[in-house]
Amino acid sequence: MSDWMNLDQEYIVGCYGRFPAVLVKGQGAKVWDETGKEYLDLGSGIGVNSLGYCDPEWVEAVSSQAARLQHTSNLYYTTPDIALAQKLCTETGYQKAFFCNSGAEANEALLKIARKYSFDKYGKGRHTIITLVNSFHGRTMNTLTATGQEVFHNFFFPFAEGFRYAQPTWEGVQEQLDDSVCGILIEPIQGEGGVCPLDKEFVQKLAKFCEEKDILLLCDEVQTGIGRTGKLLAAEWFDVRPDVVSLAKGLGGGLPIGAVLCNEKTQNVLGPSHHGTTFGGNPVVCAGALVCLGRIADPAFLQQVQEKGERIRSTLSQSPEVEDIAGLGMMLGIRLKTKTAKEVANAALEAGVLVLTAKEKVRLLPPLTITQEELTQALDKLLGVLNG
Ligand SMILES: *Cc1c(COP(=O)(O)O)cnc(C)c1O
Repeated sequence: MSDWMNLDQEYIVGCYGRFPAVLVKGQGAKVWDETGKEYLDLGSGIGVNSLGYCDPEWVEAVSSQAARLQHTSNLYYTTPDIALAQKLCTETGYQKAFFCNSGAEANEALLKIARKYSFDKYGKGRHTIITLVNSFHGRTMNTLTATGQEVFHNFFFPFAEGFRYAQPTWEGVQEQLDDSVCGILIEPIQGEGGVCPLDKEFVQKLAKFCEEKDILLLCDEVQTGIGRTGKLLAAEWFDVRPDVVSLAKGLGGGLPIGAVLCNEKTQNVLGPSHHGTTFGGNPVVCAGALVCLGRIADPAFLQQVQEKGERIRSTLSQSPEVEDIAGLGMMLGIRLKTKTAKEVANAALEAGVLVLTAKEKVRLLPPLTITQEELTQALDKLLGVLNG
């Protein structure tokens, strides 16, 4: 173990099972550890580094904003967050954005919007949020409660009231419905749950039903959003327009940001004093996010994400170890025949490729800007590991 790993063990709370690599610098899809070993990164910091490491335009925007005005609090207007909100709304067709600092925090805002929308219109008691079995929505008390996996509902009792879990099917949702339901929260592709896309017909039926009953359709796009699936929002693949969308991971390109997008129905639910966060809309973070969005919202860029995703899929499908590959664009989950995902991830690290796991699958979330050459190298190595 290196000195840094020992110090980590001594001084950092042990929440994380880390791979044995101390990463010190990166460029594009490549990253180097303290010994100088090079890795091709197919995880991009769990889908965060959407433009790869140290994209020159992103670095310039972030560093020049840091040198001009780093923070003011939300007591004053600043320009990067307003520009980012405008761009997000015009590109997605939503009405307004709220900024915060993480995926969990975006989902907290989304949940508050759903509850208050219903309270304003129907009064007390219509507060239940239905979430789906196998979902993941974050680590705060409410988002942990919203997470539809029993293994997470431990230790931290009591959990919040007002959540119910439905199997991700039409019948499953019907079983959980009653007059107290104000919102239904979905991930278009369950990421941490093992890269499981929801059924399109189910999502469309749900959207139509929600609209009829004035139940809000809430969409957690923390992992799927901002180009990850080859569309700006993954909801586009399902031809639905949720009432509230949460975003985070890939939006900032490496700096902490969360966002909630509101439609016509939900844009004015939160007013002064109903919600807020000190760091939300931070100028440095938003300057970086603006570069990401500017690049990713281009249809030609999104088309490339789809094409690179197809290339990864068809290349890795050739391995006899691969059972199947699920996902959309560059959000892929590989089910293996004999090896465990953890074994493959460890062997890939040895071979110089960083991959993620999700449940029993190997999960890939490469930087959206990965070059064909970087992809060739990474896929060669990964195939070697799979077939080895
Ligand atoms: C990562 C993730 C979250 C939590 O985001 P944090 O930034 O870690 O709080 C919530 N929902 C989904 C779908 C995620 O993938």
